[in-house]
Amino acid sequence: MVRPVGWRSISSWSCIRCGRCCRLLVPVKIGEALYYQKEYGANVIEYFNKGFHLKKKGDGYCIFLDWVKGRAHCSIYHFRPKACVLYPFYIYKKPLYNDSEIALFQFFNEQYYVYIDADCTGINRGYIPINNVIGNIILYWMEKLDFIESENMHVLKRV
Ligand code: SF4
Repeated sequence: MVRPVGWRSISSWSCIRCGRCCRLLVPVKIGEALYYQKEYGANVIEYFNKGFHLKKKGDGYCIFLDWVKGRAHCSIYHFRPKACVLYPFYIYKKPLYNDSEIALFQFFNEQYYVYIDADCTGINRGYIPINNVIGNIILYWMEKLDFIESENMHVLKRV
């Protein structure tokens, strides 16, 4: 379960690799599902509720999660699903609730409604203002960036 709140109620964000989100359901598109099955075997993906998802281990954590010195380490970090790259951000073209002002984000003359999972441990951490983070998240969501490094928000541009 996630608890989406409008981005204006958050000041900053930086992933601290607590691993909490690695227990959430991770939906993957069919192209992603085929890629992971080809690279890592059929048992890393499961299908239910009319969708593909990354499989969980017996402890409830993602099948690709390792722990390194107490910190969550994604073993497919540079190839992780789009849903994981975007987390804890959720972007829509229409507001989810009657809270359009707190979620509205104006970006290059376009309006987006941006929500953040209030349960992410990285909320209000880090030094990069949340509106700067969201710009990169929207570019990735629009497929104009190839990659986002969650811990320090390094990005790679599409060529
Ligand atoms: S995105 Fe948030 S919940 Fe997930 S590992 Fe980073 S700080 Fe923890």
